Amino acid sequence: MITVAVMYAHEFLPAKKLLVVPSTSIPHYIYADMNSAGESMVQWTDFEGLAWECDIENDGKAHACGFNVYLGGGLGTAGVDLSSYQTINIDLDYEGGDQRLRFYLRNYEPGFSDINDMQTAKFNNVQVPVTYIKDDLVLSMSEFSAAEWWITQFKVPRENALPNFRNVIAFGIDTSYPSAPGKHNFKLNKVEFIGEWVAREDWYLGILVFWLSVIMFVGAISLAKLTKEIRLEHQRLERLANQNSLLAQETDKYKKLSMIDPLTGLLNRHGLSEYIEQYFPMDTKRLVSMVIIDIDHFKKINDSLGHDGGDLVLKKVTNLIKSHTRQSDQVARWGGEEFVLVLPDTHLEGAFAIAEKMRALIAAANFDQFPELHVTISLGVGTSDGKIPFHQLFRSVDIALYQAKAQGRNRTIKASV
Ligand code: GH3
Ligand code: MG
Ligand code: MG
Repeated sequence: MITVAVMYAHEFLPAKKLLVVPSTSIPHYIYADMNSAGESMVQWTDFEGLAWECDIENDGKAHACGFNVYLGGGLGTAGVDLSSYQTINIDLDYEGGDQRLRFYLRNYEPGFSDINDMQTAKFNNVQVPVTYIKDDLVLSMSEFSAAEWWITQFKVPRENALPNFRNVIAFGIDTSYPSAPGKHNFKLNKVEFIGEWVAREDWYLGILVFWLSVIMFVGAISLAKLTKEIRLEHQRLERLANQNSLLAQETDKYKKLSMIDPLTGLLNRHGLSEYIEQYFPMDTKRLVSMVIIDIDHFKKINDSLGHDGGDLVLKKVTNLIKSHTRQSDQVARWGGEEFVLVLPDTHLEGAFAIAEKMRALIAAANFDQFPELHVTISLGVGTSDGKIPFHQLFRSVDIALYQAKAQGRNRTIKASV
């Protein structure tokens, strides 16, 4: 809407006007061929009122007579730029025998014209039938064209042969060439150039440039905003990712803690279940041996050494058990004074040998703070080739342990799986 309104507003812009006649300051003159070879006469009938009379010789030859006004200030000066004017309003009274009158604009052509020779300035002209010549003649600048005689006489290059009004030295009116013999009376009341301060195409271009600027400005602001938002969002995501990884670390930490027995640092029952689920899923066909260890008469140890003493014994037993396990073995505290040892890829005899070694080791162990103390353990041992589920293996080994207890403790019994 704004665009359409502004486009339309061009119609209402004030016109650009250049009043040439009447004016007191412009240098002007009249001419006829009495100034050159002929005998035709010209004279002012009213100098102030710009009225003149031509008397054209009747000798069958071509004669001319006219009026000239210097727009640029006279010979030897550059002209005025009339390229932004579209029309000339002329008020001229004419009486005489010519069918047409000639209006001209002499343009100084840089690179071609000689500034001191009026004839070399381009002769843009238009011939207007006298029926049109009254007090409101409107000539369009586009009606003017460079005169053929001028192009021919001065061998004008093509680039200088097009009409041009950038540097107009003079405006003039004269009779037809050749002119009708006899008297011709002129009275020039007004010559005014009318143009636009801003050409329509420049006006539209301005609107276009304005909108392009607005679009670019708004675009730049949006881009800056978006960039900032993206940066903030990026930072937010980074913070979230950091928090997430911290949470994951925390979760991991607590998960690990929940699987560790704090007294011995071994896996607890929950930890062992996780381990078994991970390494010995239901469908595994992996060979594995299991040893369940239970400290003999631990209640008595507790009774004689106190609970803290009992804890120290548990730790020491733990270390002794661990010293006899391989990297691949897993030891867990099943509860109280009971331990479970998982030996992957180990068959029954191997597991039994290890169990016996542990039993001997602990039976011979010296508990530094308690020199009098002798600790023994009972063990059950069994093997699975993957054909029986883990809990079933566990149950058989537990039974074997029970048998070891029943048979007097401090011994290892193989489970019948
Ligand atoms: P058995 O030879 O038949 O195994 O006899 P036991 O006394 O070792 O067996 P029982 O299951 O009767 O007693 C186990 C004792 O272990 C009971 C409990 O007070 C003690 N106990 C369990 N956990 C801990 C612990 O973390 N620290 C200490 N100091 N004692 C514990
Ligand atoms: Mg027990
Ligand atoms: Mg016990």
